[in-house]
Amino acid sequence: MPGLILRCDRVVTPDGVAACDVAITGEKISAIAPAGSMTVPAGARLLDLTGRVVMPGGIDPHVHCAWPMPVPDGPTVFTEPASVVSRAAIHGGTTTLIDFVRCIEGADVSDAIARRDAGWKGACHTDYSFHLMVEGDIPPVLLEQVGAAIRAGHPTVKIFTTDITPSRRGRMVDFGDIWELFQVLAANGGLGVIHAEDNDIVMHMYGKLFREGRTSFVNMAEVHNTLSEDLSFRRVIRLAESVKGTALYMMHTSAATGVAAIREARGKGVPVYGESLHQYMLYTSEDYRRQNGQIFHTYPSLKSARDQAALWGGTLDGCINCVATDEICCTLAQKVRGGRIDDTTGGNAGVEPRVALMYTEMVGRRGYGLRKFVDLVSTNAAKIMGLYPRKGVIAVGSDADICVLDPTRRRVITTADLHETDYTPWEGWEAHAWPCLTILRGKVVMEDGALTGDPADGQWLSRRIDPAIIAAPVAL
Ligand SMILES: [Zn+2]
Repeated sequence: MPGLILRCDRVVTPDGVAACDVAITGEKISAIAPAGSMTVPAGARLLDLTGRVVMPGGIDPHVHCAWPMPVPDGPTVFTEPASVVSRAAIHGGTTTLIDFVRCIEGADVSDAIARRDAGWKGACHTDYSFHLMVEGDIPPVLLEQVGAAIRAGHPTVKIFTTDITPSRRGRMVDFGDIWELFQVLAANGGLGVIHAEDNDIVMHMYGKLFREGRTSFVNMAEVHNTLSEDLSFRRVIRLAESVKGTALYMMHTSAATGVAAIREARGKGVPVYGESLHQYMLYTSEDYRRQNGQIFHTYPSLKSARDQAALWGGTLDGCINCVATDEICCTLAQKVRGGRIDDTTGGNAGVEPRVALMYTEMVGRRGYGLRKFVDLVSTNAAKIMGLYPRKGVIAVGSDADICVLDPTRRRVITTADLHETDYTPWEGWEAHAWPCLTILRGKVVMEDGALTGDPADGQWLSRRIDPAIIAAPVAL
């Protein structure tokens, strides 16, 4: 017997936008029928959502919680934990987060996962999952453990082709080890999630700009540049092509060159998927020059307006499949403490406004259909990351994870209204809609801005990549 019935005139379903009643029984969507046709059982709650946009809960496939943040000339600090980030996510209509487990050489991967999960269990408002993050040298024993972890429901492996900055040596995995990792992915049904930059170009540019005394972060796009994205995307994709059964998800694509590399690979039948970030979609390297310009930065870097246009183009032709945040939730003081090209912190506080911002920019300003918008903030992440159809879709049998957007609630985004930290990179942006209701597995966890869920609501999600996603570049 359903406990909750949503009466709606705009539900985003796999087939388009429909007027329908959605019945929720326990944690699942149990029935969908034409609007007004369901009888409401005694004791069930009817929510009239006429005039609202009813969509699957947002999925952010790229966040970092309780993450070590290098601070210039000081001890490493940790960013806000899952309890804070997931609370903000719920306020913003996002119901699933995917974070990372660092699998550092010498540590047992399953122990690392267990330690990481201990920080989330009972302390997360959203459902969650982890990418495995490998760094540095990859000994054979680690390859075995990664294979086992993939089979145990952690099928995505984050790999860096760069140390990112001179002070972060040890992140980069060399191409021999990446080759070995790709064989592990292919053998176990995994997916490579890649931070691709050309380490030679990036480190060369660090040396050059230091010699020239141009060390301010405003020059970041010269260091983490479009050529680096071009070379690294193509090299890592070419390597994947050589190991049959390897599929890649290119994280935080920032440049036209990256989009072009993904497009070309997909055209050749290589299963490559693209992610960009909301700050790359809406800010350029010119914004570094604004006051506290570091707040717009994440690695690799903001690029030009031309690059930004290519990212938007990629959302239209299927090269950019997801818009994530690369969430790093810290204070303004921490975010702007570093001011050089080598010590400015990456990441961004944005998990809360992401869905509303993207609705505004996609549906409100660029005329995207609701289906396309939902694909980019929820459904595609579920499909690529092995959560579909449990997540990312309003369909019978799926988890009842729902975001309800109120398009009559235009509001100017301001830090005081958010639930993350003491600044937002989105201060002053006008949103054309705002979430008024969030449901996680059948439980109303946010209603009219009031949190009704608790940190014990979130569950870890076992994932398995759909073989179709790996076999060929699925059109999403
Ligand atoms: Zn990241």
